[in-house]
Amino acid sequence: MTTTKRVGWLAAASLALLAAVAVLLGNHAVQAAPAALHAPILHDAATSQWAMRHGAHQGKTHGKHLRVHYHGHSLMRLSPARSADLPALHQLLLDLNIDVWSVRDGHVDVRAADAHALKAALHRYMPSVRARTLVADIETQLLAHHWRAMDTRVSAKSSVAAQLHDPKTWFSEYHDLDEIYEWYQLLAAAHKDRVTLTRNVGTTHEGREIMALRFTNPVSANANTTLPKKQIYVQGGIHAREWIGHATTQYIAYHLATSDDKKITSLLDEAEVVIVPVLNPDGYVYTWNGDRLWRKNRRADARGAFGVDLNRNYPTHWGEAGSSKFPYSDTYMGPSAGSEPEVQASMAVFNSLPRVVAALDLHAYSQLILRPVGWTRKDPTHEAQHAAVGAAMARIIKNVHGKDYISEKEIDLYPVSGGATDWWYEQSRPLKNLLGNKGVQVEEEEAMKKHKKPLPPGHGTIVRPYSYTIELRPSSEWWGPGFVLDKREIIPTGEEILPAFLYYARTAIENVLTE
Ligand SMILES: [Zn+2]
Repeated sequence: MTTTKRVGWLAAASLALLAAVAVLLGNHAVQAAPAALHAPILHDAATSQWAMRHGAHQGKTHGKHLRVHYHGHSLMRLSPARSADLPALHQLLLDLNIDVWSVRDGHVDVRAADAHALKAALHRYMPSVRARTLVADIETQLLAHHWRAMDTRVSAKSSVAAQLHDPKTWFSEYHDLDEIYEWYQLLAAAHKDRVTLTRNVGTTHEGREIMALRFTNPVSANANTTLPKKQIYVQGGIHAREWIGHATTQYIAYHLATSDDKKITSLLDEAEVVIVPVLNPDGYVYTWNGDRLWRKNRRADARGAFGVDLNRNYPTHWGEAGSSKFPYSDTYMGPSAGSEPEVQASMAVFNSLPRVVAALDLHAYSQLILRPVGWTRKDPTHEAQHAAVGAAMARIIKNVHGKDYISEKEIDLYPVSGGATDWWYEQSRPLKNLLGNKGVQVEEEEAMKKHKKPLPPGHGTIVRPYSYTIELRPSSEWWGPGFVLDKREIIPTGEEILPAFLYYARTAIENVLTE
């Protein structure tokens, strides 16, 4: 069974443009209430592309779904004449509820339901923006092949156990949620010495478990010390359609669990790595059985909309620039800060790590290494350190397969508020007496000498975690493939990201960011 997205875009766009005009004219009161402007469209479920995409007929994402198709939708490249016009272009796209796929090298690549309507809007409001078509029909050029492959796919579930010891086979395919969860459970069971799995650190709107894993060597390299280890937090799959993010998280986890490489064993001797591998399981399942291009979670809104953009829902400058109040938008911020169970789960895991010194979120696509912050142009305190580590990661990645990743500050890409990386960076911790943290140990020793007692709890150096988002492959080639990245890219992507991650973790434990 299939449904075809009908294009009621022109009607929708005319109303959306009213909001856009208001915003361009600086009428923020109108910008603050886009839902009201769109209300008449939402009642017209037969013609609204948003209603078709989110519609109540889709129901819960258990079992088989109607597949959402994108006939007539195109991937457009928008290029402002001046980079100074990028923020205004982003605001216009946000107000038009346009789905942004990639931002790189001064171009913004978007999915347009109606290329003519988008061009007309640009011509009217930002005539200096050049619009070109990269992919004329997303359905036939990007998705048809994908769904054909899905229809003939044989589930790997029966052979997950065999593939646990055959990484070449496992990483030659993308895997569905059941396979991934089983694989992580088997990985943890087979490597109990290094891996601890917690099955349920949170439960989604549709009742699925969110899992977390902890990797460490319980026997420290330095047997003379019982100092607690620093912690590194890694998160994958916050955005459902970014499948290479799920796969690369598996790649890192697999090597942490199994490798005898000195860089990995020494890291696990000195630190703990905690991974939430599939933060948005409901959304991920829906990309397998309904809409391959779904980004958000699957919150069912009373108005018939589905999903919150989890990376706009963290309680940091929530609801400010770069997120939408419109529940049908792909960047919908949610009903309140931290409202979503997935965000609450990831925050709870992060907050359970008293010695965390670094965090990483794996996304796709554009090949970018993004550092805080996304909500203001003002440089944060640790801009120099963050920039240096980001640039070093880009060099390491390029050395593996020659791929260019650009290291930049989030705000220089586009404004983001309520994002995970900014929230992590804000979470400071008093750290003292930690393994491998010479500066802090000296402070502790001096306190002992001077006061004849250790630093009281809560005292010590205030440490803030390094925090990055990596947007993985592809770059932004003319021909796509965008989110529908070929499965043969999984292993090369893992091969270039793993050494960058190991460098990052090592740097963070040796050079903590102090306030
Ligand atoms: Zn993403």
